[in-house]
Amino acid sequence: MERHVLITFPHPDDEAFGVAGTVIQYTRAGVPVTYACGTLGEMGRNMGNPFFATRETLPEIRKKELQEACRVMGIKDLRLLGLHDKTIEFEDEDEVADKIYRIIEDVRPSLIITFYPGFAVHPDHDAYGAAVIRAAMRLPEDQRPKIYCKAFSQNCEAYLGSPDIVNDVSDVFDQKLEAIKAHRSQTEGSLKEWIPKLTNNDPDLVEWIGKETFWIYKGPVAV
Ligand SMILES: [Zn+2]
Repeated sequence: MERHVLITFPHPDDEAFGVAGTVIQYTRAGVPVTYACGTLGEMGRNMGNPFFATRETLPEIRKKELQEACRVMGIKDLRLLGLHDKTIEFEDEDEVADKIYRIIEDVRPSLIITFYPGFAVHPDHDAYGAAVIRAAMRLPEDQRPKIYCKAFSQNCEAYLGSPDIVNDVSDVFDQKLEAIKAHRSQTEGSLKEWIPKLTNNDPDLVEWIGKETFWIYKGPVAV
């Protein structure tokens, strides 16, 4: 059993599809979970479907959505790092790591969940994951938490092998859907396509939502 789990991603909703079920399982088991979110996703392309956000209102809307997702996932500790969306790759990695390190020192997690740098597709994801790893590596090895990473680039299995952890979250399937739904401005479009498929028990979609995969961080991987 974990003592405290820290999930940390650059954008609100990064947790929704691949981590939310695992988080719900932890919080239901009484494990405290802290979510440190890098940005408010203020440069997101989606403005709702149909539109209900503008570039000006999007950050506040996404913050509220994130708070609602946290409520659904049972997360009581949400930290906002205040970085700028779409520019994390240009930030000084040490400075981003400083912000994350302060949270690690504060909550002393036994497990950190983030993106695997180099295998997370979006430049913000890769840069953010690299800063999280850098922050965790500042701790002496015997005090370092385990790090589970999300990877989903097309080549990820060629370099990392199969996921180390395949977590069945079918027991919290509906709650996970609620967490995804909470990020309404970003997910309403997908959900509209999913509902009929889920009603018909589409096996691929049920499997994709019902299983969450992680790689244990083992060090930098040359690509
Ligand atoms: Zn993202």
